[in-house]
Amino acid sequence: MSFESFYRDTWVEINLSAITHNIEQMDKRLPPRTGIYAVVKANAYGHGDIQVAKQAIEAGAERLAVSLLDEAIKLRRAGITAPILVMGWIRPEDAPVAADQDIAVPVFQKEWLEQLEQSAFNKPLKLHMKWDTGMGRIGIRSTEELDGILSAIEANPWVELEALFTHFATADEKDLKYYEEQAARFDTLYDHFKKVWSQPVEIHTGNSAASMRFPEDMQHYVRFGISMYGLYPSSVVKDERPIDLKPAFSLNSRLIHVKEVPPRESISYGATYQSESEEWIGTVPMGYADGWIRKLQGFEVLVDGKRHPIVGRICMDQFMIKLDREYSIGTKVTLIGKQDNVEVHTDELADYLDTINYEIPCMISYRVPRMYLKNGHMVEVDNTLIKV
Ligand SMILES: *Cc1c(COP(=O)(O)O)cnc(C)c1O
Repeated sequence: MSFESFYRDTWVEINLSAITHNIEQMDKRLPPRTGIYAVVKANAYGHGDIQVAKQAIEAGAERLAVSLLDEAIKLRRAGITAPILVMGWIRPEDAPVAADQDIAVPVFQKEWLEQLEQSAFNKPLKLHMKWDTGMGRIGIRSTEELDGILSAIEANPWVELEALFTHFATADEKDLKYYEEQAARFDTLYDHFKKVWSQPVEIHTGNSAASMRFPEDMQHYVRFGISMYGLYPSSVVKDERPIDLKPAFSLNSRLIHVKEVPPRESISYGATYQSESEEWIGTVPMGYADGWIRKLQGFEVLVDGKRHPIVGRICMDQFMIKLDREYSIGTKVTLIGKQDNVEVHTDELADYLDTINYEIPCMISYRVPRMYLKNGHMVEVDNTLIKV
């Protein structure tokens, strides 16, 4: 545990108990045969990869999944020994590094296997064969490619096929036609695979949406991302509410300046806002360099359990809000989360920005310290701002 200080009045709180709650809910919904990969790519969707990975393992997730080899190596350097899968392509010349650190990687190109330098390996490399059943991103699409890859695997004593996986493009939508088509394409490839490969392999196909909605379709593992953080993958799944989720992420600041301005006074760059009457204006020490982007002008934040609008342009490090009365310096401002019974939810922010909730915690930058709580108590502070 590290308790680094931070010297600015803007911080993220990560409720690690919510991560545990969400994993336990998912676990209860899945058949006993199905385990969980906690997806902690992109610094755990902005929540903090090491902290979330440790909590997820403690909560019952058996394995971890990331996008980049660098992300996997960071987890190993932090002393995490659980199995880790890199889901994105890695360079063939980097494969021995993955093998040395017991990090599984995807395979979907025969040439990639042929480019592996066998003399560079000290340990065997675990491979997960990626099948593109309709995502159109990475993966093999035909039985010919499948055969080519299997023969290249058999020809290399330094690699072993651990698993097969695919990724759904529309598992969070109302219309399930395309999801079913992808599942059918998977079955066609799998029928062929079974005829040509006799050794046991694991299968993992589902993201949060597929795992929550179709738990019986899941095989050995699911890849649980967005909903581990307490967010539903879409409004359709949110309405269905297949499991109960608690958001782990909240964003907070404090008023650092409060003033009363006369009518027709301008606020911030470009003088885009003018006070209509005498108004109380508060300054919040957060801006677009923190990921609080300029498009959020006009959005509302919470002070004293009430919504207050952002007025004028958002600056790099600060923005202004229109207050309903005078407040003292240091009054808490909640940008994402609850005050009393009023909530600004990540989904509301995503709607305002015309994007998906996944993007919101990812965009809150390294400049905002992360404070970790368990059962309501602070257990750690991660301040990358002063880390050298
Ligand atoms: C990010 C990702 C996931 C997790 O998806 P969620 O919708 O966040 O659950 C699963 N599989 C792959 C291949 C991914 O890239």
